[in-house]
Amino acid sequence: MEASEDKSNHPGIVVPQETLQKNVKKDGTFSGCTNGDREYDNGGDSYADPFEGMKIDSHDVLHKVVGRTKCPGCHASRKWFCYSCFRLVSELEGKVPSVKLPVKVDIIKHPRELEGKSTAVHAAVIANDDVKVHIYPCIPEFEEDLEKVLLVFPSSSAIPLEEYAKKHRRNEDSHDEDGPRLKRPKHDGKYGTTVNRVIFIDSTWNQTSSIYRDDRLQGLQCVVLKSVKTSFWRKQEKKPDTYLATIEAIYHFLVEYHQLFIDSEYDGRYDNLLYFYSFLHKIVQQNMKERILQGTFKPRVKTPKTKR
Ligand SMILES: [Zn+2]
Repeated sequence: MEASEDKSNHPGIVVPQETLQKNVKKDGTFSGCTNGDREYDNGGDSYADPFEGMKIDSHDVLHKVVGRTKCPGCHASRKWFCYSCFRLVSELEGKVPSVKLPVKVDIIKHPRELEGKSTAVHAAVIANDDVKVHIYPCIPEFEEDLEKVLLVFPSSSAIPLEEYAKKHRRNEDSHDEDGPRLKRPKHDGKYGTTVNRVIFIDSTWNQTSSIYRDDRLQGLQCVVLKSVKTSFWRKQEKKPDTYLATIEAIYHFLVEYHQLFIDSEYDGRYDNLLYFYSFLHKIVQQNMKERILQGTFKPRVKTPKTKR
């Protein structure tokens, strides 16, 4: 989840100076991303592509969109999708991938979190049938057994998803790791799923904590994800790069979920959740690179919080 305080950085406009300095290598070439672990040759410039190898559809249709159009839902002016209605602009309907999720996802969004900057919206647009966004103080209504609802939040009682899986394994179709292996389909996930829905909080770190403390969320099992590094372009100083943008957290949760509960071999089926995120990431990296080459890069140090 995004755990940032400073909202001064905007895709394609500014990035922290610290990031810039890290990205310029000693030999003068540019490393576009500090977080990826793969690098590829890019016409003489090498820069890491954190999305390399993922099954993400072509962004050509997004590049072809010229200007803004009215959202078919609320008639506000939008470029690719509406961050209020969670739907595509008419021009892109049917041309952008959609993803079916194995569990229902609820996102609780802080009302002060700017809609246009929230990556949570990407999930609601791409996986519209399975993702619901709630603007706090609204929260999801839990009709089912609370044991089947997970909250992805690093509370003191949070456990890794795998530990949850072991604790709540469905014995009838799983095997005992220490005992004889029972018959089960090849490539089946280790554990029968008992999760119905998963909740993410989309806000700055301080806001997230206040939402987490809401009485209505008490009693939910908190889980944490395996440590993965963020590719977010607004990575914050003093925050470890394991603090994820919300769309990254949702994606990594689903990959882990898939490996534990569905099939230990993940086949890339949720990669398109990062469709807009990877697109914006590339735009940011490209713009930064061009501005460095032109010598016009002027990092903004601080923006007053009232601008949010
Ligand atoms: Zn709209």
